[in-house]
Amino acid sequence: MKFSMTINGEAATTADTFAVLNPATEEIVAHCPQASSAQVEEAVAAAKEAFRSWKNTTRDERNAMILQLADAIEAHADELAQLLTLEQGKPLNNALTHEVGPSAQWCRAITAFDLPVKVLEDTDTHRSELHHRPMGVVVGITPWNYPLNTAVWKILPAVATGNTVIVKPSPYTPLTTLKLGELIRDIFPPGVINIITGDNAIGQQLTEHPDIAKITLTGSVATGKKVMASGAMSNLKSVTLELGGNDPAIVMPDVDVQAVLPRLFWYSFLNTGQVCISIKRLYVHADIYDAVCDGMAAMAKQIVVGDGMQEGVMLGPVQNKMQFDKLVAYINSVEPEGGRFLCGGDVPEGKGYFLPVSIAVDLPDDATLVKEEPFGPILPILKFTDTDDVIRRANDSPLGLGASVWSADVDEALRIAAQIEAGSVWVNHHLAKKPVAPFGGIKQSGIGVENSEWGLAEFTNLQVIGVQK
Ligand code: NAD
Repeated sequence: MKFSMTINGEAATTADTFAVLNPATEEIVAHCPQASSAQVEEAVAAAKEAFRSWKNTTRDERNAMILQLADAIEAHADELAQLLTLEQGKPLNNALTHEVGPSAQWCRAITAFDLPVKVLEDTDTHRSELHHRPMGVVVGITPWNYPLNTAVWKILPAVATGNTVIVKPSPYTPLTTLKLGELIRDIFPPGVINIITGDNAIGQQLTEHPDIAKITLTGSVATGKKVMASGAMSNLKSVTLELGGNDPAIVMPDVDVQAVLPRLFWYSFLNTGQVCISIKRLYVHADIYDAVCDGMAAMAKQIVVGDGMQEGVMLGPVQNKMQFDKLVAYINSVEPEGGRFLCGGDVPEGKGYFLPVSIAVDLPDDATLVKEEPFGPILPILKFTDTDDVIRRANDSPLGLGASVWSADVDEALRIAAQIEAGSVWVNHHLAKKPVAPFGGIKQSGIGVENSEWGLAEFTNLQVIGVQK
């Protein structure tokens, strides 16, 4: 398979390449271009030049192209899903329904969100209007867990609001984003959307560049801090940062245990637990604690973990070796820190970054696995008796991305939800990203939001036009 970057509407290749591995087999899937520093400059120059005319296009013109992109994604859905499974590891049906399908759906949804001019005052002597203006060249930097979705979430709000954009995917999962670039070449004018690949240094070159107006990053807290610092240096860039999460779920004693079990399970382990908003700390009331623990462990034993290309596989491998090693360290921390495994907890030998679904109990609140974001198929279940105390424990984290409260009494669940420190709190479900709902973290989970009118607004500068009559 051959892959090229997209710079100024053209395919761009390099002599220098890097290998992309299939995490299920550790075999090389493809070699991708390692952008040179000069190519980064070319992409910035192309996006800057394209902005001069793109910013003057109408929203209708831009929406028409975004809708064409939705059609193109759907027309290439099978090919994109296959690539996604090969590079990311998730099961093929999941790639199709949870990532490729939603990417097209998001394109369509964004065309409905508008940022109309607001009249602030209109008196006999003055008229003041508030306008949203595009910012310039946006850089979108994406992680390896949902590479296609996150690329689309960066591109859409940038171009819908009249900006041009350069996307740099994670070097672990660049293939679907490069393929997206090929589709884009046939739809958008040259320079409006550029895709470049390479190591983290490419990301840094972009975030430091004085001709970039805004950075939108999805990634770890550590990278968020670096990006914010380098983005501030040359020209004080605007940032939207979607960072890590350590989402608590609080399960009250009045739930129907059998009904909620499969949902609690999948909201914890979907995509092999590699979701920023999976359940990562499961707090269960003492009255139902044993029933929930037994049910979760029983479900775990039914799960088929394997190569996502094979039929019947429910969870794929961990995406890369670095993350695999991190997870093995979390597994190894459980018993020395006072916990025990209800299931999993072993590290299989052989090819592929496979780990079993691992559920740990008896851990104290200050255990490493409770305090930190594992980002893999390993979950601590924690017991509580007092509601106010569990709210305190749920909030005892530097992160605040998502959270959920589970109860038959929705009013009580809403009372608890209002006290949780997180950007999204869901009642009787979890992991619900929607185009209409602004999504973002508080505390160190990030700055700003994506999706909805609020997400669009982050890609614009507010401008007041005042008229003296
Ligand atoms: P990461 O921070 O290691 O990498 C993210 C991206 O940043 C990659 O493209 C990487 O090449 C780039 N990068 C790394 N260093 C850089 C630098 N100095 N300058 C510019 N770019 C740089 O994250 P990851 O391991 O790919 O993803 C996992 C993390 O992402 C987890 O913490 C997860 O919670 C988080 N995440 C958050 C969300 C969200 O919406 N909040 C969604 C998915 C993942």
